[in-house]
Amino acid sequence: MLAGAPPPLQRLVGELQKLPGIGEKTALRLAFHILRAENGYASTLASAIAEAVQRVRLCSVCCSLTDADPCAFCKDPRRDDSLLCVVEGVADLMAVERTREYRGRYHVLHGALSPLEGIGPDQLRLKELIARLGDDASAEPPRHKAVQEVIVATNPDVEGEATALYLTRLLRPLGVRISRIAQGVPMGGDLEFADQATLGRALLSRREL
Ligand SMILES: [Zn+2]
Repeated sequence: MLAGAPPPLQRLVGELQKLPGIGEKTALRLAFHILRAENGYASTLASAIAEAVQRVRLCSVCCSLTDADPCAFCKDPRRDDSLLCVVEGVADLMAVERTREYRGRYHVLHGALSPLEGIGPDQLRLKELIARLGDDASAEPPRHKAVQEVIVATNPDVEGEATALYLTRLLRPLGVRISRIAQGVPMGGDLEFADQATLGRALLSRREL
């Protein structure tokens, strides 16, 4: 399909094709669009990518993406320190936030347990999660446990349920209440794509684990 295309175009298509869900046909269409676009769109796109890669990093507290550490969610004094919502990804955090039903803090795991894909506990941001849950007498000044309840909002699929079970076992000894969002979200579904009302209800009618 790309036979005869100039090498720079072939390279652009090749790079676009590495993006998830983008096949050769779509990559070619995007490349033509970028080449045809006016008003310096191509360089604006290139610099947006470069800036995002350079400035966006993980929040050292909640592991969400941010350009300032700690992130706005962790810094906001109006949010409830006693509630901690654990999600698989940043898109899920955004979905929960869109419901406007939740005013606590967040923690992003960056995945779910999946032995088939080689994702074990070490690949998830669990150390950071545990660090937020216990008392820390060595901190200056000494920090007392603020989180009273961990709301496990992993996806309602096999990996998400396995992760919820693992978290329950891991966190139970820390003496924190653990709850799971209700099954308003369809089994096998993805939090990210649940409608706001459904996800809002699922949060409000969570059950203790
Ligand atoms: Zn944060």
